[in-house]
Amino acid sequence: MRAATYHDRKDIRVEDVERNAVEDGQVRIDIDSCGICGSDLHEYTAGPIFVPGDEPHPVSQETAPIRMGHEFSGTISEVGGSVTGLEVGDAVAINPILYCGECRQCKEGNYHICDSIGFVGLSGGGGGFAESVVLDAEHAVPLGDDVPIEYGALVEPLSVALHAVRRSGLRAGDAVAVFGAGPIGLAVIQCARAAGAGSIFVSEPRDARRERAADCGATELIDPTSTDAIEHITSNTDGGVDVSFEVAGVEASFNAAVESTAPSGRTTIVSIWEEEVSTHPNNLVLGERTVTGTLAYLGGPRSDEEYGMVIDMLADGRLDPEPFITDRIGLEEIVDDGFERLIDPESDHVKILVKPNE
Ligand SMILES: [Zn+2]
Ligand SMILES: [Zn+2]
Repeated sequence: MRAATYHDRKDIRVEDVERNAVEDGQVRIDIDSCGICGSDLHEYTAGPIFVPGDEPHPVSQETAPIRMGHEFSGTISEVGGSVTGLEVGDAVAINPILYCGECRQCKEGNYHICDSIGFVGLSGGGGGFAESVVLDAEHAVPLGDDVPIEYGALVEPLSVALHAVRRSGLRAGDAVAVFGAGPIGLAVIQCARAAGAGSIFVSEPRDARRERAADCGATELIDPTSTDAIEHITSNTDGGVDVSFEVAGVEASFNAAVESTAPSGRTTIVSIWEEEVSTHPNNLVLGERTVTGTLAYLGGPRSDEEYGMVIDMLADGRLDPEPFITDRIGLEEIVDDGFERLIDPESDHVKILVKPNE
């Protein structure tokens, strides 16, 4: 079958790979849609980062070349022995998290911050840019009848955003600021709106992304290249927002996210960073501000896990992935029409879905 494999920086190939057999406890999933994510782009331009280069990943035991794609949905086409609760024909979203099961966080149920965390499609273990994938059954989360299968590919990034909003302590009516309106920033805006945010300020330099932010529920759009975001936010609120989110990954937005909160405000850092930033700790001390990190999500189906919540919120329309999806392409076009277009600074694309079986 055909699959996109990561060999090295700027070397992603669509090639013939082996179709793995389904073993006890596993399922085969025929892929419907797989989103190209910011982390995929980092691997393409600056990797290998999450992709294991020389050392095998401790859970998957694989090194590059690995199959890519971690934001995907599909249909169960084969069910191995001893699998319960999944049947051929079920539409599923994939929870890609790989974890050790033995470290302290895993034992406490927080496998999303496992010492050995990895992701299917980045750390080995198969990937969604392929005709099909074989995974342990626990990675397949049923979408039910009310969520279009294509939207299943957005459950992963939406869960990142929902986890961030739940970590932020946002309360109904709070004023919110979001720095960066890429796919995760847009998802944070939707989740903040669903959580009952009052005003939602969004700072984003690209015009097309600010427009999409408005479609997602932003109430105030700021172009930081022409407006001082901190000054604008503090003078249009009671001295700052209650909660801010940093989703751009640059020093200026880190500091602006902190300084745009009112005293006792809370900032949640969602970005993964390539560089150190410099900041003045007095911005935290004077005003007793808090900065929190957030990573990934709980990827199970239960109503106390983000995947379960996001699927419910997609089913009843509280979340709507349509504003994020800017194109749908075939597998063979993934490099030229996918990766290359998304890294182009002039491009207006947000989320491109790859359809390996169309
Ligand atoms: Zn991702
Ligand atoms: Zn662990």
